[in-house]
Amino acid sequence: MSATNRILPGSTIGILGGGQLGRMLALQGRAMGYRFVTLDPTPDAPCGQVADEQLVAPYDSVEEARKLATQSDVITYEFENVDADVAALLERESYVPQGSKLLFTTQHRLREKRAIEAADVKVAPYREIPTAEALREASAAFGFPCVLKTATGGYDGKGQWVLRSDSEIDEAFATLSKAGTELVLEQFIHFEREISVIAARNPDGDIRTFPVSENVHVNNILHLSIVPARITQDIAQEAERMAAQIAKQLEVVGLVAVEMFVTPDGQLYVNELAPRPHNSGHYTMEACHTSQFEQHLRAICNLPLASTALLTSVVMVNVLGQHVEPLLAMLAAEEAAGEQQPRVVPKLHLYGKQESKHNRKMGHINLLAESVEEALDWVDAAGIWQTEGIR
Ligand code: AMP
Repeated sequence: MSATNRILPGSTIGILGGGQLGRMLALQGRAMGYRFVTLDPTPDAPCGQVADEQLVAPYDSVEEARKLATQSDVITYEFENVDADVAALLERESYVPQGSKLLFTTQHRLREKRAIEAADVKVAPYREIPTAEALREASAAFGFPCVLKTATGGYDGKGQWVLRSDSEIDEAFATLSKAGTELVLEQFIHFEREISVIAARNPDGDIRTFPVSENVHVNNILHLSIVPARITQDIAQEAERMAAQIAKQLEVVGLVAVEMFVTPDGQLYVNELAPRPHNSGHYTMEACHTSQFEQHLRAICNLPLASTALLTSVVMVNVLGQHVEPLLAMLAAEEAAGEQQPRVVPKLHLYGKQESKHNRKMGHINLLAESVEEALDWVDAAGIWQTEGIR
């Protein structure tokens, strides 16, 4: 291990974006002895509350980004839609070990798919769709259903259309074309499960992967992460190998979250990448020797990567606006009952967001248990998520 560009405790880490991912990075990093400054347009942002300083400015403010650069020994980001001018400025005027190449790749579905394929990893069959005619041809080739997506700007299921028949082609094309970006059609993968693997790589090229998380979405928002995932050892190993391969071939520095589909016959297809800590990695906070946040900081600071071993079975449940009150009431009641050694140990994380809205991510809860079944029973019994049976 070389000591080049090793960023030692006492240094200041700049975070572009002040949301919950930045907050959890800063909370972890402070324990490791780092200082933090963050840039976010909302005063008192989740990360601003725990950083040494928050610059309040729009994400694309070149002037404020320059200020962030001046104050920081190293810069990272907590979302991928970083403005291209800002990314270029930061690279020029500061130290951004993650670089802007991976950002550029993952900001665009077509570029991302090509990069994954170039790394010799499988994605769902896809085609670029420049015209409604091309959509007609490609959907005939893939069969229905198939999924039309915008190349940029989509998240949590936005910018997507599941095409069920020929009759939807013109409307789907016209609607998604309004986004003003390229379109891509994907074959529909009849998956058995969705999983993700988070891989970390440091500038020296060391790579570690976290245990596979099985992810359940509700209304296109992550609802549960289940670890260990209910898949065979072979599939888990292959998923971790694929994530490591992507980290290596794309020369990732920091984290890359790799979302995949598992088919009933055990095939794996990568769906998408995120070049940052990921919601499906929040389980690592109490369930692994090292959290994804610590590993990310280790990677960008070029420290040795640490053990990702799993300490316990765990289910992570997202806490959206509508879940906060009933969950707090339930936890208070559980605590009042005073069980010394509960079978399921709940660890609640709240992000300090001022305004609680329906479907807004306000926090998450990690349920540590002997088995994932016990943790899932806890979720069902809570009756808070109205999604019993989704497991
Ligand atoms: P994405 O925005 O690409 O992460 O897609 C959101 C969700 O839509 C995924 O988590 C899947 O549940 C579903 N989905 C996306 N693409 C496909 C596909 N090609 N086949 C089946 N389901 C998909």
